[in-house]
Amino acid sequence: MEFGIGHENGSSHGGSRVIRYQYGSLPEYAEWMPEAYAEWEDLEKVSGEKLLNLTGGVSLFSSKAVLDPCVKNLEDFNIAYSVLSTDEANEKYPMMRIEPEMAYVLEEYKMGAVRPDFCLKATVDQFVKLGGVLKDKEPVSSISEENDTVIVECESGVCYKGSKLIICAGTWLNRLLAPMGLKLDLRIFKITIPYWRETREDMKITTTQFHVAENVYLLPEMEKKGHLKFLRHEGPVISEPEDSSRSEAEKQEAIDADLAILKDIVKKRMPYVDPEPASIEHCRYTMSPDSHFIMDKLPGYSRIVVGGAFSGHGFKMAPVSGKILVNLATDKPVKYDLTKMNIARLLIDCK
Ligand SMILES: Cc1cc2nc3c(=O)[nH]c(=O)nc-3n(C[C@H](O)[C@H](O)[C@H](O)COP(=O)(O)OP(=O)(O)OC[C@H]3O[C@@H](n4cnc5c(N)ncnc54)[C@H](O)[C@@H]3O)c2cc1C
Repeated sequence: MEFGIGHENGSSHGGSRVIRYQYGSLPEYAEWMPEAYAEWEDLEKVSGEKLLNLTGGVSLFSSKAVLDPCVKNLEDFNIAYSVLSTDEANEKYPMMRIEPEMAYVLEEYKMGAVRPDFCLKATVDQFVKLGGVLKDKEPVSSISEENDTVIVECESGVCYKGSKLIICAGTWLNRLLAPMGLKLDLRIFKITIPYWRETREDMKITTTQFHVAENVYLLPEMEKKGHLKFLRHEGPVISEPEDSSRSEAEKQEAIDADLAILKDIVKKRMPYVDPEPASIEHCRYTMSPDSHFIMDKLPGYSRIVVGGAFSGHGFKMAPVSGKILVNLATDKPVKYDLTKMNIARLLIDCK
């Protein structure tokens, strides 16, 4: 790792990430969710930490065609849910004003949040307890493969050798692959995370939410007392972690546009939330053009596996991704269909 564990430069820090079973447009990942929930629950038991905060959730749909695949996910895995009409939802959730166009409100009872800061700590603690050695604050400068050995050289001059390597470099993946003559079609989104103050103690929003038409999601009060986290699943593209392709003014314009969309939704749908955000943070998504992950061997390297392009939805199933990557690295079978997660689809420049 380049920085210390829990650092805020990447994509995995913070107090909450949505976890849910339904995965309408990307059903491959719905298949992973029973195992993901089971793994987080196991880690909760062994660590003694509360890693999941399952508040229950509601998702708002304007079209049955979009709702149906989500319902199918839940039925396939026998997960409790109900679909409410707009009127029923407004009666049940008086802290919201759901417009008639949001004709279908899906309640998913095990939707909620995973807590990244606690999850990372619990994972690292178990890893070390089981004999793993963590090397953080150790930036890697080059990777190579010679015969049956993978060689990892670090900026400090230290060199590690091993028989297998799994690379999970988040937004820095292309920087790490560049010296190997490889480049992937990845987009780095700058995500704006506003926190919104709730104005009435008796009208707090307590459900995790996904407003599908606007591609926005909401986490109830977790990190900041009295504040919701309500954000877009989109953001301006910045070329690489160190952005140079757009002016600061252009990037700010795009961020302001995202914020304006959120403010509008708060005004019309959340009468007891202040429509001016109380504070704003930022984070990065590593997006593939099709929102599918990379779970594959690195082309031209038999001992190196890559996990990446988690496209803003990778945290909830991190324990499953980890197991898949280990199986790929050790040539063991993987029980999930990884066809769409092949790396070749993203290769744009090979030596
Ligand atoms: C605002 C926001 C909201 C999100 N919401 C959700 C959600 O609701 N649900 C969900 O499931 N997912 C969500 N995600 C997505 C999820 O958090 C990410 O998919 C996941 O955390 C990505 O993890 P990663 O390991 O790929 O990247 P990172 O966590 O960034 O890790 C990459 C690591 O590689 C290290 N590294 C890179 N290059 C080097 C080098 N040369 N040498 C040494 N170390 C190096 C970096 O330092 C970093 O620690 C969200 C993400 C963000 C930003």
